[in-house]
Amino acid sequence: MKKISIALIGIGKIARDQHLPAIAADPRFDLVACASRNAVVDGVRNYPTLEALLEAEPSVEAVSLCAPPIPRFQQARAALAAGKHVMLEKPPGACLSEVRALDEMAYATGKTIFTSWHSRHALGVEAARTWLATQDIRHVHVRWKEDVRRWHPGQAWIWEPGGLGVFDPGINALSIVTQILPREVALVSSTLSIPANKQMPIAADLELTDTTGVKMRVEFDWRHGPEELWEIEVRTADGALLLSQGGNRLQIDERDVALGLVHEYPALYSRWHDLILRGERDVDARPLSLVADAFLLGKREIVEAFEE
Ligand code: NAP
Repeated sequence: MKKISIALIGIGKIARDQHLPAIAADPRFDLVACASRNAVVDGVRNYPTLEALLEAEPSVEAVSLCAPPIPRFQQARAALAAGKHVMLEKPPGACLSEVRALDEMAYATGKTIFTSWHSRHALGVEAARTWLATQDIRHVHVRWKEDVRRWHPGQAWIWEPGGLGVFDPGINALSIVTQILPREVALVSSTLSIPANKQMPIAADLELTDTTGVKMRVEFDWRHGPEELWEIEVRTADGALLLSQGGNRLQIDERDVALGLVHEYPALYSRWHDLILRGERDVDARPLSLVADAFLLGKREIVEAFEE
């Protein structure tokens, strides 16, 4: 089978930790070039910008974008305008209108756009979705708490408008919630704790509901440590489900459920490959929409300044 020639853009933490190993392990992709202002990847051709790469590498078919959300929109537009398939890291945009605009562009060019949500491919998520499909759900409690100094050292962009603050990891929980619950969820209220010297929240407390009135509490906090807590607990009429370790461990009624072996980023690249072969788009902005709603309805509390 002919390999899809691919370029990776924005070589930082997630590109090195996950994208490069996942692409290297997937024989259906051929990484030929990278673009990053300050970084290079061994064994491929490197460019300082995506625009320079597009100019020099007309045969690249697909572009995977790993820069933070604000620069990513311009990059996605340039890649789609050049007729490339595009995969977007999460969140798919700094705001919802960007995602709609990119989807329209992809539709017009006939190219694949994939708003990837890596946490939806955590090992326990599909089994959780299957179990919950037939359950009478009574309550949902999300606790997504970690130490920002450990997980986001030196990432100034994350505190700026468009960086999402604590919603940067929190949106992973929302991507799972919107995948495993059988009905749509809506935001009821939100409280945002914003450090006196920052633009974005360090913690957030949300209340959500579904179409039947099930109550859901969501707690995001970056002032937590040393062990991160990435858990979603769902109580039903018949039992309790706990997804922990970011979705990679599933317990039903306190018993571990045996899970598959394909990890998040290899699964993302498989999905993107399938979409490209089928000529389809996969654009789901629901997790970002809940974040936008949390800002729209957010009661703001100014908290202690944050110094890294
Ligand atoms: P990062 O390391 O801070 O940024 C990635 C790279 O993007 C940087 O090294 C930088 O490379 C480039 N970049 C930064 N600002 C730019 C700008 N203004 N214009 C052009 N390029 C710019 O961030 P990250 O942790 O990899 O996160 C990137 C995205 O992946 C985010 O949306 C994040 O939510 C998502 N993500 C992160 C993780 C994680 O564990 N870190 C996990 C899953 C998803 P150059 O300076 O070389 O251009």
